[in-house]
Amino acid sequence: MAETNGSQSNRGADEQSLRMISSEPIGNEPVSDEELRPRALEGFIGQPLLKAQLQLFLDAARKRDVPPDHILLAGPPGLGKTTLAMIVANELQVPIRVTSGPAIQHAGDLASILSSLDEGEVLFIDEIHRLPRPAEELLYIAMEDFRVDVMVGKGPGASSIPLTLPRFTVIGATTREGMLPSPLRARFGFTAHLDFYPKGELERLIERSAEVLGINLAAGSARQLSLRSRGTPRIANRLLRRVRDWAIVHDLDEIGPDDVEAALELFQIDSEGLDRLDLAVLNAIVKNFDGGPVGLNNLSAMVGEESETVETVCEPYLVREGFLVRTPKGRVATQKAWQHLGLTPKDDVSKLF
Ligand code: ADP
Repeated sequence: MAETNGSQSNRGADEQSLRMISSEPIGNEPVSDEELRPRALEGFIGQPLLKAQLQLFLDAARKRDVPPDHILLAGPPGLGKTTLAMIVANELQVPIRVTSGPAIQHAGDLASILSSLDEGEVLFIDEIHRLPRPAEELLYIAMEDFRVDVMVGKGPGASSIPLTLPRFTVIGATTREGMLPSPLRARFGFTAHLDFYPKGELERLIERSAEVLGINLAAGSARQLSLRSRGTPRIANRLLRRVRDWAIVHDLDEIGPDDVEAALELFQIDSEGLDRLDLAVLNAIVKNFDGGPVGLNNLSAMVGEESETVETVCEPYLVREGFLVRTPKGRVATQKAWQHLGLTPKDDVSKLF
């Protein structure tokens, strides 16, 4: 796999990534993630419908002996988009070039990547919704016509020379599908939506990762971990590593459910997978705003966090697990949130949304 120059994504750059349960990679994690990435579709756990669709799509391309149509992978961070892109290249036995929207600053950066692709190569563009507009326009022409216009010279004498490209496959990954302009979205022949993983699938994933990493989990431990992993493989793998640290320090040969609990308590992750920031958000709504509704900015100021962090990192999980509701008037804590905080819900809590 070739890592395109300057393609370091900015994921995990700020304080949100320091959270144990952030679904963004932390520090050097992408490197250690590599050993846990399944290489074939068969080893990719869960998402059965998506896998079946992708299998059919790849089989058909193989039978026709042409590179498959472009693929868009949409869904929250940490659910396996990069992994799937690598699996596709691996299954097709073609090289993969990796870059990301923020790494491409000018259309020319993209033109030079495109013009150096080989026949059949996969071009993986992470965070494709963050491509600059001129690069986006260049990309959809390249995706449709396998052509790129190269500018020669500068100023009034400049001219553009069309360059024919070999057939290649773009795999775009996005956490914000809605931000993709429709002409670009329309160029993808297959869009896969990745969803949070049910606990049973995460349990299998943790068992597999434990095996790869040589971690000895006792019965029930994978389940304990799965309950606190927020439906996200990247978080599940990270928690597993922290539990392994705990076992190393405590000289344990086998990690039992109690060890999992003790280790995760140390990292302040509670029984529902909520961490300090999630609890701060719920506490603020309930205690400072009487259950809501409260606007995102007020809420973020109250917990001392960037509103983007609250919106993209905390809220999706809190909403999905039924702790919080987003209403036109603001965020409202549900009955479940009050109860989780050990408080009696207001009588009229459901009238708030
Ligand atoms: P994304 O690109 O969506 O942010 P990644 O593909 O980088 O997510 O996945 C994060 C981590 O989770 C990787 O280590 C990967 O191996 C693991 N992972 C994700 N999905 C699966 C899956 N379905 N089966 C096994 N491991 C997975």
